[in-house]
Amino acid sequence: NVKLGNAFKLQEIDAYGKPYFALIPHLGMTYHRLICYNCVLLVTFVFLYMSFIVPKIYKERYVVILISLILGTLWRTIYVFSRAPIDRSMIGFAVCDFLIFYFSIYYKPVRLLDSMLANLVSDMDASVFLFDLDGKCIWINEPGKRLVNVEDGDFEYATDFFKDKIHDIENIPEKENIDFTIEGENEDKYYTIEKSRFEDEAGKLQGSYLVVMDVSDEKRKIEDEIYSYNHDMLTGVYTKEYLLQKVAERVEGCNRDEYYIAFLDVRDFKIVNDIFGRSFGDYALCTIADWIRQHAGRNSIYGRMGGDSFGILLTKDEVKVEVLENDLANFVIKRQDTEYHLVIHMGFCELDEDVNDVSIFFDRAHLAISAIKYEYKQHLAFYDGSMREKVRYSQEISAQLSTAIRENQIIPYLQPIVDVNGKIVGAEALARWIHPVQGFMNPGSFIPTFEENGMIVDVDKHIWEYACKILDSWKIIHPDMFNSDNISPKDFFLTDVLTDIKTFVKKYDINPRNLRIEVTETSMMSNIDGRMKMLEDFRKNNFIVEMDDFGSGYSSLNMLKDMPVDVLKIDMKFLGKTDDQEKANKIVKNIICLSDDLGIMSLTEGVETKEQFEMLKEMGCLLFQGYYFSKPLPLDEFEAMIAK
Ligand code: C2E
Ligand code: MG
Ligand code: MG
Repeated sequence: NVKLGNAFKLQEIDAYGKPYFALIPHLGMTYHRLICYNCVLLVTFVFLYMSFIVPKIYKERYVVILISLILGTLWRTIYVFSRAPIDRSMIGFAVCDFLIFYFSIYYKPVRLLDSMLANLVSDMDASVFLFDLDGKCIWINEPGKRLVNVEDGDFEYATDFFKDKIHDIENIPEKENIDFTIEGENEDKYYTIEKSRFEDEAGKLQGSYLVVMDVSDEKRKIEDEIYSYNHDMLTGVYTKEYLLQKVAERVEGCNRDEYYIAFLDVRDFKIVNDIFGRSFGDYALCTIADWIRQHAGRNSIYGRMGGDSFGILLTKDEVKVEVLENDLANFVIKRQDTEYHLVIHMGFCELDEDVNDVSIFFDRAHLAISAIKYEYKQHLAFYDGSMREKVRYSQEISAQLSTAIRENQIIPYLQPIVDVNGKIVGAEALARWIHPVQGFMNPGSFIPTFEENGMIVDVDKHIWEYACKILDSWKIIHPDMFNSDNISPKDFFLTDVLTDIKTFVKKYDINPRNLRIEVTETSMMSNIDGRMKMLEDFRKNNFIVEMDDFGSGYSSLNMLKDMPVDVLKIDMKFLGKTDDQEKANKIVKNIICLSDDLGIMSLTEGVETKEQFEMLKEMGCLLFQGYYFSKPLPLDEFEAMIAK
């Protein structure tokens, strides 16, 4: 208080020839100074302490403030102790205060930002390379150093690395990705590079940088996805769609004369699955795929066309018919104790110039197989125009079937069945089509078509009813004569065979014992329990059940013991020409003995000579059928024959 003068008083003095006021301190001023100096001391200690404990990058700020404080204090001290008449320490305070003010409020540690950014970039997975205006590499982050294998200070060598991989980094277009690969010992690495430039606010170029990213994982993932999309999961070969695409690409612009398209198909593959189980079936398919892989040349393309079929594009010189025939004839699938001989057919077709859709070639190659579908010995077939004709023929006869049945163009011919005395005891009803245009047709020319498309049910129902009509007409004259009817495997899928036959038997009021039904082993292959029960039902209804063509297919002696059949029709193939007739005869003899032991009556089909008849009689066979006695005959001729 100037008036009271409790801190100091002012005294007018003369200094440098001018009037000034000098400050004469009182006790209050001394307290005031004590407090102030202590405050300064305290603050100085605080700053001193802080500048020791803060991270290095912040020290700068505390040191500047501390120095300003010390300088300000010193300056002041000089005036205090020099007793100079005029105190100019305020100017010093202003300068120091400005520094303190700046460093405490506005100051941002630029190097902190730099090092934070640098750390950020160093921690990135991508490799970052910075270049100056001259294209000289000035900085590389850690992954980058590892990538180009340089150490701090050798950054300029990075440019050589890029030159090596992508020729010239100068010419990399901006914001456009460029890929390169580094071949590794175990696996290749894939990278993508993106280049960007630094510009100042005025848009002037300051430098540029490259970001190199390792995209190996993504690339591999995509490749894996594409692979699994294009490849069959089980066998590892191409899928059908991808195969067609690949073949179409190859065929375009190549010399088509040099190639074949092949279609490989396993006969009755369903049976393999049914009998041995799915896993064996899968194993069989993988074995086939391996076989194709082994045989396929470098120019071949192959894939899986469906469940049990494969497609192949191969050069003609790779098709060595004898080798392939031999391989396929001995195609045995072996796994642990299970062994199965697969019947594989391959169809081939040439690549016509005028066909653009390659799937047509595969269809044709597939079609070629239909020519050998029922062959066991021939495995290869080549497509020719006549096959297309066959398809047309199948379509034509299918369209005519209902009329043919209605007009009785299809009728059963009867082939006599004789006993050991050569006396006719019955007949097998075998379908014949007396076609208004094509004339007389054997079942071989229409049954397979109808078996394939399921129309066999109509044919069979017609023949069964016809057979019942014949038995009806024989009731008085030949009351014991039987008629044996064929049942196709497809019938079991498409109709209720027992109910149908019972309906006819009832309608014509005939004795079921005179109607025999012939089933094949193939019919029994699927739904074994259901089929067995049905045969049992037939027998319960007094029908006689015959197993047709025993020995032609997958004959299983084991099955025989469970099969509810009354008669075993031994396939005529046993009597046909074989390399070792003696062995074949032994087999027939033993089958006859075996069936006899099991209480099953044996009937041999295809007896053509007196010698065969005599031999079979000696072996204990009880019934016989074959050209030696008679070919299948129309009803009137058959009746005339009995009369004779
Ligand atoms: P399958 O049931 O085994 O009939 C026997 C076949 O052997 C008949 O041929 C018959 O003519 C022929 N055959 C009989 N004896 C001899 C012989 O001594 N030597 C030779 N080489 N062959 C002989 P077909 O009539 O041509 O019938 C062939 C097959 O067509 C039949 O074999 C049968 O599976 C099927 N089939 C015939 N008619 C029908 C039918 O109405 N329905 C069904 N589902 N299939 C039928
Ligand atoms: Mg038969
Ligand atoms: Mg037969």
